[in-house]
Order: sequence, then C-alpha cells, then structure tokens
Amino acid sequence: MYPVQILADIADQVSKCEKCALHFSRKNAVPGEGPFNSELMFIGEGPGFYENEQGRPFVGQAGKFLDELLEEAGYDRDKVFIANVVKCRPPGNRDPLPEELLACSYYLDKQIEVINPCVIVTLGRISMSKFLPYGRISEIHGKPAWVSDRLIVPMYHPAAALHQPSLKPVLMEDFRNLPKAIQQSRSAGRITSMSVEPKNIIDIAEEPPEQLSLF
Ligand code: URA
Ligand code: SF4
Repeated sequence: MYPVQILADIADQVSKCEKCALHFSRKNAVPGEGPFNSELMFIGEGPGFYENEQGRPFVGQAGKFLDELLEEAGYDRDKVFIANVVKCRPPGNRDPLPEELLACSYYLDKQIEVINPCVIVTLGRISMSKFLPYGRISEIHGKPAWVSDRLIVPMYHPAAALHQPSLKPVLMEDFRNLPKAIQQSRSAGRITSMSVEPKNIIDIAEEPPEQLSLF
C-alpha cells in the first residue's frame, strides 16, 4: 500500500474506533493531518472543544499560537504532520487516562512508522511522557534527545504558554532552534521519507517484483 493510503486507512479506522470510552462522548475523532513525508511531526495531547467540532487538530486558541510558532521557525503548517496522543476529546479537556493512552497508541505508532519523521516535537507533558517518561519539562524543553534512533524535542504545550505568558518567549526560542535539530538528525544519517524520492517510497511499500531469470 502507498504511504498516503496507509495514513488514510488509519484515519478511517480512528473515525470508527471504539477501543476506549472516549468514543462515547466524541463528536468527531481527530486522527491528525499533514503530508506523508513530513520531516517534522508535532504530537499534542488530545482534541479540545473546537478540534472535536471540526475533526482537525490544533484549530482553537492553542492552534492559532502553534501557527505563529511555526511561522517563527520558518515552517508552513501544511508541510508538517500534526497529531495527538489520543484521537478523541477527553470530556472537559481532562488529562487522558492511562488506559486511553494505551488503547490509542496503536494509531500514533503506525503514523510515526509510516511518516518516519526526521524530528518529533512533543507538545506538553503527556506527549513528552510517551518518549521521555522520566523527563521534567522545565529542565529538558527544547533539548533534542535520541529515543530509539529517533530525535525527540520536548516542548511546552502552546496552551500552557497562553495561560502562563512567561513561557511564550521560551517556546518561541525552542521553535527557532528546530532547524538545528533537523540538521542534527540529518547529519546522524537518519533516512527519512523526505530524503527519499516519492517514487522510491512507493517501490519500497510495494512487493518487490519477481526476478526474471534470463536462463
Ligand atoms: N491541544 C492539543 O493537545 N491538541 C489539539 O489538537 C488541540 C489542543
Ligand atoms: Fe479509539 Fe483513540 Fe478514540 Fe479511544 S481515543 S476511541 S482508542 S481513537
């Protein structure tokens, strides 16, 4: 299957998923969005009110701030992949429960596998915990860390900076340093979808053709 088809397939499964109790109260599941060969992937916590209404990630207040941050770092929103650790809105925007995180991890893990981004940016504590469970965000934000051969950059959640304005310049500075993290990942020789011609990705995804024998 083509990577685009696999992502569409995941989104389709998410929209019908009943693997955890969050499906009872959702209006729209929010699988995430972006190109299949994004070199940057952002992972937030879960849909809020507006995301649940529209079925798209980061479209409320925090999303507007994320757009500003992306611009600050020199990235177009439509060139990066944006997802969440849970795909359905926790009621009242409470933290997702461990069993909800566990049930939903299958979809995010598949997305990461297909997109194979150069750098993953975690937004907020809950998303950070997936990769760096013992990290303290106040100490490690903005510092790239290798986790299983993938470069993770933990950052504060944009909503946290909206509640606590002193975090705004911190988040801006961390975003401005993202091109350096991408460079670090590239120099380490990580092969990402972005560094492969789309045609070759299709070749990789398909069954190898049968070798014709000349004899
Ligand atoms: N906050 C998140 O963590 N994710 C969204 O999609 C929106 C707000
Ligand atoms: Fe399924 Fe994830 Fe939604 Fe739970 S949060 S119902 S696991 S898609």
